[in-house]
Amino acid sequence: MPNAFVDDARNFKEDNPFESMMSRFDNAAKLLDLDPNIYRILRCPTREMTVYIPTLMDDGHYEVFVGYRVQHNFARGPAKGGIRYAPDVTLDEVRALAAWMTWKCAVVNIPYGGGKGGIVCDPHKMSQGELERITRRYTADIIEIIGPERDVPAPDMNTNEQTMAWIMDTYSMHKRTTVTAVVTGKPLDLGGSRGRSAATGRGCLFVTLQALRKFHMEPSQTTVVIQGFGNVGGHAARLMHKAGMKIIAVIEYDGAVYNANGIDPVALDAHRKATGSISGFPGAEEIDREEALFLPCDVLVPAARENVIHSRNAARISARIICEGANGPTTAEADRILQQKGVFVIPDILANAGGVTVSYFEWVQDRQGFFWNEQLVNGRLEEIMVNAFRDVVSYAERHNVHNRCAAYMLALDRVAFAIKLRGIYA
Ligand code: NAD
Repeated sequence: MPNAFVDDARNFKEDNPFESMMSRFDNAAKLLDLDPNIYRILRCPTREMTVYIPTLMDDGHYEVFVGYRVQHNFARGPAKGGIRYAPDVTLDEVRALAAWMTWKCAVVNIPYGGGKGGIVCDPHKMSQGELERITRRYTADIIEIIGPERDVPAPDMNTNEQTMAWIMDTYSMHKRTTVTAVVTGKPLDLGGSRGRSAATGRGCLFVTLQALRKFHMEPSQTTVVIQGFGNVGGHAARLMHKAGMKIIAVIEYDGAVYNANGIDPVALDAHRKATGSISGFPGAEEIDREEALFLPCDVLVPAARENVIHSRNAARISARIICEGANGPTTAEADRILQQKGVFVIPDILANAGGVTVSYFEWVQDRQGFFWNEQLVNGRLEEIMVNAFRDVVSYAERHNVHNRCAAYMLALDRVAFAIKLRGIYA
């Protein structure tokens, strides 16, 4: 049976996020010989909500913004996923990201389905008051479909701890009781978790250490190139440096710096805070930011944005291991090229799952009303990341597929199993 929803959404383009996710999903489903009924269920989200958000602007007029919340699947638990604010948010993108969350939570085996949300707006042109009003109205508009047992939002592009605090407060006002577990990524004082802000970068460290171990490589002999020196890349750089690895280059949107003897990420961060850019850092030389991606290195960490490794540049990648800190940094076409080159890719749905894992810990702590120390958080994160790495790599070896395909197959298998156990389509 043709599926109008899916067929309409599929306009094949290398950098289309929906297409990118779907092509990996289709491939994994084929290799798994997935039950056609489950295949049909999983190709579509469970629920999509579009809201029109009237917002009082500072000059006294009302603007109506479009917001989305997509819940891809609930088979393994409540939906989980971020909310982004950006002018180019589309329903197609939010759909893809929601499905991505289903697979990511299944890969690390935490009890969530996938969700994602977004508002089409330009937060850089809005005041704090406008951002607060748009967030509160959006929360009220989607209130029936979110909640600790339904769907638990988190920060994503251009949203942060403050946004989560406003969502938590608005939800709690409507429920007439404080419900901290409705969102994760909150400030520590409002039920946030220790270790959350560094969790994604720390997860990248744990899986990279596993990959080095697999190839009998010593951290002290390992060179690393980091693209994107933000939350994920910045923490990954600092923690990898601390683990003894040599960060030979850091690439940002406005420049790149290189030092064959290693860059101190803490000093680089201080320089950027003082000057507004990584350029001009005294501990390194400036190099071309496009070329920096192709530097020979042991580990490349793309931690900036999607589609940076594509069919036109993948052949020039000289890294032995790629640890995908960002979501979707590699296109499906580039996958094939990297596989032919023998690059060991730690795919995004595994490599950057440290963030959602500590979000899960935050939700557990909120529901327990009992908070863990950072050592406990980091230790439990390590256990989950190491187990997930082993699950994916052994699955890849057993089925003779590359790691990304194995991660999708493993995730699909787990979600399909949950659907069968629940008898959702019986
Ligand atoms: P961020 O905004 O803190 O950092 C991104 C950094 O990349 C910024 O410093 C930005 O200047 C830089 N950048 C942007 N475009 C670039 C380009 N073309 N070349 C080089 N640098 C560029 O964002 P983040 O939270 O670190 O997220 C980065 C990626 O990781 C995104 O894909 C995000 O979806 C993904 N991710 C983040 C988390 C998390 O917990 N923060 C979890 C999972 C996945």
